[in-house]
Amino acid sequence: MAELVHPRNAALLRRVRDAEGADGRLALPDVASWEIFPFEGEMRVKALEEPELPEPARTGEGGKPCDSCETGVSQAVWADERWKITAPEPSAIPIVFLSPRKHVDLGNLGLLLSGEMGQRIWRLEMALTSLGGVGRVHLNRWGDGGAHLHLWFFARPEGLLQLRGSSLADWTDTLPAMPLHEWQDMLSAVAAEMAVLGGKALR
Ligand SMILES: [Zn+2]
Repeated sequence: MAELVHPRNAALLRRVRDAEGADGRLALPDVASWEIFPFEGEMRVKALEEPELPEPARTGEGGKPCDSCETGVSQAVWADERWKITAPEPSAIPIVFLSPRKHVDLGNLGLLLSGEMGQRIWRLEMALTSLGGVGRVHLNRWGDGGAHLHLWFFARPEGLLQLRGSSLADWTDTLPAMPLHEWQDMLSAVAAEMAVLGGKALR
C-alpha cells in the first residue's frame, strides 16, 4: 500500500500528521468563520484517514453498471445527438447535469465532444439564467461517484449572498427542496430554452 502513495501525497500526509493536535485533528480552517459557511457552533475537523489505493471503482467502471448508459435519454430533460441534460431528485435550487450520451469521462472525451461541450455549457448557462432570479450559475465536475462524465450546474438564488461560491453545494444539501411540480416546471423551462438552439426538449 505505502509504495502506491505518490511522493507528493506522502509528503502532504506527513505535513498533516505534524500539524495535528494532541487529539489527532487539524485546527478549524478560516472558511469556518466566513459568511458563506453554512454551519456554526462547536465543530471539529474530521481525522484524515490514510489513502485507500487502488481507489474503489466508480459506477460505470471495473464491471460496475453505468446508470447513465442504462437509462439513456429515458430520464433526460433535453437531448441532442451526442449530449443530454438530466436532473437529480428535487433540490432547493435548480440543479441539472450535462452528460455525453456515450460512455466517456473528461479524460477520453476527444476533440469533437470536448468542443461541443463548450457550446452546451454556454447554452446551459443562458438557459438557467433565463429562469430569472438567478444570481450566478455555477459549474462543477466532481465525478468521484460515476465514471460517465456529468457536469453539475447549480443556479444560485439571486440576492442570497451567503450561498455564493464553494459553500453552495453544502447549502443545497441543507435547504428544503422545491415542491415536485415547481421542480418539473423549472426543468421544462430549461429544456425549452436549450431546444431554441438545437436538440429536443423531452419534458
Ligand atoms: Zn455510461
